[in-house]
Amino acid sequence: MDGQFANLTVLGSGSSGNTTVLSFGALTRKCLLIDAGLSPLAVRKRMAEACIPGLVVGAILLTHLDTDHWQRGWARQLERNPVPVVVRSGHRAKALEAGVPASCLRVVADTFQLGTLASVTAIEVPHDERGSTAYVVESVAGRVGYATDLGECPRAMLDAFTDLDVLGLEANYDPAMQRASPRPVFLKERIMGPSGHLSNEQCADAVAEISIRSHLQRLLLLHLSRDCNTPALAAGAIARRCGELADRTIVALRNEPTASVSFARAACPLAAA
Ligand SMILES: [Zn+2]
Repeated sequence: MDGQFANLTVLGSGSSGNTTVLSFGALTRKCLLIDAGLSPLAVRKRMAEACIPGLVVGAILLTHLDTDHWQRGWARQLERNPVPVVVRSGHRAKALEAGVPASCLRVVADTFQLGTLASVTAIEVPHDERGSTAYVVESVAGRVGYATDLGECPRAMLDAFTDLDVLGLEANYDPAMQRASPRPVFLKERIMGPSGHLSNEQCADAVAEISIRSHLQRLLLLHLSRDCNTPALAAGAIARRCGELADRTIVALRNEPTASVSFARAACPLAAA
């Protein structure tokens, strides 16, 4: 059976808005959005630019409800075209308060089936008061791990991020740039603390562990700080720690789509059927 491939397309990544599209090749026109931090119009435009044509959004997975991950403009869009909006139970109240229509809200714990599209595992990761959510999305085309906005990588996440084909992981800041920045001390402490964001080195440490138990076709570095990081520093940290991944590493762009990553599971049991 042909078409057992998937595409991961980051439409925007960083504090000015996060949305990533996961589509499933010839299997279905339905795609998943991870986060809806760009407006529906921006998502439509950037999908037209960067994704295969004819996709329709089948569900939205939210990592958390900060405004760079959930844009209120989606509320009206979802009332017209309802699709499930997935959050962990710890984000339920905040999601309703932030305008996610109750009829669309799907509160999950652990692993759940998203129709025929994929099996999804949601894992709580530390970030500010309510945490963020890391996801593992498994389809016949392969297994994707995705985590952004987290102060550190908890054991539960590292254990779930096994056997991955593609990994998207935050590489938010370079510690020296962060320390030297003119930001107020409390903000630096929040960002660099255990409920803030991942540094390049923390990201590289996690990638080193995850890659041993995976067969990563691509690594995407997400949510780089505009002021306290550079693509070269983030990619350099990976190259130093996991040299074999250097030519498979892509740094997600901030304000425009990053080239689509296409992947397929080499040893997919259904592909052989
Ligand atoms: Zn964010």
